[in-house]
Amino acid sequence: MGEIRRVVQPIEVNYICDQCEHGMMHKVGEMDESTGDIPHKCVICGHQQTFQWVSYPRIDYTDEGASL
Ligand SMILES: [Zn+2]
Repeated sequence: MGEIRRVVQPIEVNYICDQCEHGMMHKVGEMDESTGDIPHKCVICGHQQTFQWVSYPRIDYTDEGASL
């Protein structure tokens, strides 16, 4: 088997703050290697939330032309 290539589309994924429902959550620290916890903070209200194994904003890739 060898190399294959296909066209994909990058999409930005953001998480809107659960508290103020306006600000975007931004990663504010490094991941805890044992738990996967990644600290985030809302850019508007300062609400802090931890996500596991994922951080925001991030870039995902979809097949070209596919909807989210
Ligand atoms: Zn907020």
